Formats: sequence, C-alpha cells, structure tokens
Amino acid sequence: MNEIFECQCCGHCCHGGSTVSVSAEERKRIARFLGMDASSFLEGFCVVKGKRVEMRIREGHCIFYNDDGLCAIHEVKPFHCKRWPLHPSILGDESAWKAIQADCPGFKKNVSYTEVCDLIRKVNDEP
Ligand code: SF4
Ligand code: SF4
Repeated sequence: MNEIFECQCCGHCCHGGSTVSVSAEERKRIARFLGMDASSFLEGFCVVKGKRVEMRIREGHCIFYNDDGLCAIHEVKPFHCKRWPLHPSILGDESAWKAIQADCPGFKKNVSYTEVCDLIRKVNDEP
C-alpha cells in the first residue's frame, strides 16, 4: 500500500461544497462515539438531500475537519471517507484515475494505472 499511496493529511478531500453520504448505521455509530443519540446527531451534524444524508459543511469543509488537519471522528468515520481515494470508479476509467490523482497528493510519483487498479481490487476485496 505505502509504495502506491500514503495519505499526506493535506485535508483537501475534506473540503468543498458537500461531503460523502452517511448511512443510518454509520450515523448511529458516530452518534455513539460522540455520546449522543442518532436523531440529535442527524439534526446537529447532518444535512438531508432527498434520500441522501451528508455531514454538514462549515467554513468550506466537513464539520468534523479539525483545525489541526485531522478528522475529529477518525475512528468511526464513514466508509466512503475510509476508502478514499481508492475509489472503484477508477477501475475501467483511466480519466477518473487522472482526476483523482490530480486532487490527491498522497499517490506516489510514477504510480501506474495498472498498479492503482490492482490496489483498489485488493482493498475492495478485503472483508
Ligand atoms: S487529499 Fe489525499 S493526501 Fe490529502 S488528506 Fe485526502 S486522501 Fe490524504
Ligand atoms: S468525516 Fe473526517 S475524513 Fe470524512 S470528510 Fe469529514 S473530516 Fe474528512
């Protein structure tokens, strides 16, 4: 893994106008971690967009992004955060790889498309 990708904790993927979706199970887990009930968590930390629930944005970044550059709920963060940037959309679409690579300084220089696809398959096959 470290030969291909190593997070630089730059926080870029926690910034922007929206965040990843958070499932009901994930909301329960995060709420428990924060010592609150799921409905208070939904009300205070999430935004509902139709059927999709996301974490709120504050000052241009996810509400859980701390000033020290770390995630305040790292231990229980949503699956989509844990998996990033090894996203399956890269498989079979080299332009998706180029776009994600350009946005994430964690990929080592000279990593090939084949190498990153192999790593994504391995990560997503893991239980
Ligand atoms: S953009 Fe990449 S290197 Fe930066 S915090 Fe996100 S995963 Fe880590
Ligand atoms: S939950 Fe943590 S890792 Fe995910 S977007 Fe928010 S701050 Fe970033």
